[in-house]
Amino acid sequence: MPRSDRYSIFSVFLEGLRGQTGWGPAWRKASPKPSYDVVIVGGGGHGLATAYYLAKRYGLTNVAVVEKGWIGSGNVGRNTTIVRSNYLLPGNIPFYEMSMKLWEGLEQDLNYNAMVSQRGVLNLYHSDAQRDAYARRGNAMRLHGIDAELLDREAVRSMYPWLNYDSARFPIQGGLLQRRGGTVRHDAVAWGYARGADRLGVDIIENAEVTGFRLDKGKITGVETTRGFIGANKVGLAVAGNSSRVAAMAGLTLPIESHVLQAFVSEGIKPLIDGVVTFGAGHFYVSQSDKGGLVFGGDIDGYNTYAQRGNLPVVEDVLEGGMALMPRIGRVRLLRSWGGIMDMSMDGSPIIDRTPTEGLYFNGGWCYGGFKATPASGLCFAHLIARNEPHEVARAYRLDRFRTGHMIDEKGMGNQPNLH
Ligand SMILES: Cc1cc2nc3c(=O)[nH]c(=O)nc-3n(C[C@H](O)[C@H](O)[C@H](O)COP(=O)(O)OP(=O)(O)OC[C@H]3O[C@@H](n4cnc5c(N)ncnc54)[C@H](O)[C@@H]3O)c2cc1C
Repeated sequence: MPRSDRYSIFSVFLEGLRGQTGWGPAWRKASPKPSYDVVIVGGGGHGLATAYYLAKRYGLTNVAVVEKGWIGSGNVGRNTTIVRSNYLLPGNIPFYEMSMKLWEGLEQDLNYNAMVSQRGVLNLYHSDAQRDAYARRGNAMRLHGIDAELLDREAVRSMYPWLNYDSARFPIQGGLLQRRGGTVRHDAVAWGYARGADRLGVDIIENAEVTGFRLDKGKITGVETTRGFIGANKVGLAVAGNSSRVAAMAGLTLPIESHVLQAFVSEGIKPLIDGVVTFGAGHFYVSQSDKGGLVFGGDIDGYNTYAQRGNLPVVEDVLEGGMALMPRIGRVRLLRSWGGIMDMSMDGSPIIDRTPTEGLYFNGGWCYGGFKATPASGLCFAHLIARNEPHEVARAYRLDRFRTGHMIDEKGMGNQPNLH
């Protein structure tokens, strides 16, 4: 009997009849070949999506993804799963909306259940000035054809009657709602892209850390790894929180700092929040997983680190934010927390660009918003590598913009990565 390679109701039925014996592995455990047309460093969401689109859209299948750990061990499996395209600046809006559209068709495209759930993202406002800023953002979105609704306090109350409206230090005045925003199961995104890329011939090489780069007359010729040298005509870096460390091996100094961001999950409770809610007067955001746990987070830890764990002051700060917004959260028990390393750029926006080294391309600076960007980042990075020119929606994400002054300062915080 053939293996059930394609996931469908029929294969689930068939496997039920034959004792689940026909499922194959989702991707092969590939060993490195001597060389490839393209090597992608980093098997996170962005690296895997890049490899998938290189094969699917640009016909490049002699591609390897080299990952130092296992697929999903980095931020792609550590984030709080929120996706949205509620951006303000022209450099960002088309890119994030393209990502949202790719999310909307992702499961059919990959034949993989990534649990894409457009449950709505609501950003609360707590002052007249904040309402005006959100109205401006919503108008910018609508001018680009993106859904946005400015809600008053009563409209928010009808959605979430249990938020703290009356006795709060920063009373809720309303919110900006993007109904098409929501959540996507994060590790399923990594697995789905890995499976999709593998089916198209891409080698996914796990437990292979890149330890150096080989150059010949200023051009890249391959990567040194803990599993030996792998030759490559082109190399793409997609290592997120490790960007500055890995780029330094190629002699590059990046406008990026690494910080830790923590996430938290409570015990499972009955359905309470059917969307994503963010607190506008502090840094706290919350949704509820399909298993019932409240999934929430807040600020980065604020010091430079490569450790995938955070410290107690931020735990206290996040929980204070939660108590201020929804005091009933004080009655649930915290089940788990973890940390991931954020590649914080100087203006809070990403970089998808060539580097001064011929054949070496860079993708990073995702700060703590890179999960939602995964599909568009992969597509734009694949375009850049295949064509050697930027995709039209990613033209602003240049490496040299900090030197030329063309910052994309979405949050208006200036060049202070710890504030983005
Ligand atoms: C707690 C937390 C909450 C977040 N919440 C959200 C959210 O709700 N919404 C959102 O949009 N974003 C969120 N983010 C940000 C988002 O997760 C990241 O921006 C995004 O996942 C980064 O891209 P990636 O998936 O490719 O990274 P990663 O999964 O980290 O991939 C990089 C990979 O490179 C590998 N690597 C590193 N060095 C080497 C080397 N030398 N050789 C080989 N491989 C190497 C790593 O092992 C890793 O697997 C959150 C992040 C965290 C930590």
